[in-house]
Amino acid sequence: MKLDHPEHPAPPDAVARKGIRPVICYPVEGLPRPDLAACRAAREGWSLVQEVLVPPREARTFEVPAGWFFRIVSIEGPQVGDLNLFAAGNLGERFFSGKTRALHGTHLSTGDRMWSCLPWLRPMATITDDTLDWYGFDAFGGSVHDVIGTRCDPYTHALFLAAISITTAAIQPDAGGGGAVGPAAARGRTACA
Ligand SMILES: [Zn+2]
Repeated sequence: MKLDHPEHPAPPDAVARKGIRPVICYPVEGLPRPDLAACRAAREGWSLVQEVLVPPREARTFEVPAGWFFRIVSIEGPQVGDLNLFAAGNLGERFFSGKTRALHGTHLSTGDRMWSCLPWLRPMATITDDTLDWYGFDAFGGSVHDVIGTRCDPYTHALFLAAISITTAAIQPDAGGGGAVGPAAARGRTACA
């Protein structure tokens, strides 16, 4: 939700400024790369030790010892799944989606890592295979396996519900909002901000 029109005039050199090629904020070329060949060699001899079924709109946990693998498989057609990671011995060390995004970009795929929060900042998992890597980026700039936002939570859901109900109550007389259109609606929006 941005303003429809900027409030400040562009400087004379605006075009030149916006024409400068962006610099990635971190020297990611220097990041230690995972040994994918070794990871894939380890996968050769793997065997399934546990299976966890996550019902729709529910969550499940599972433990993965260091050096082991886990696969996330959509078994009933297209689905969206959220993943969170916690260090087994210290639940305070957990997946840091924001820093992972800064290091690997908005979407993850093979070779990317999922990093833990500060002060640890360690790779918690390395993606060794991605059966959806064929998708790449579509014409909308969309892709799969994003770290743009955070995992779903009821608090954000409640925030939107509250915003809708306040605005609805303010502009609909029957909704118990006092019946005023206009000023009340404006107050409703202000209250949401
Ligand atoms: Zn979600």
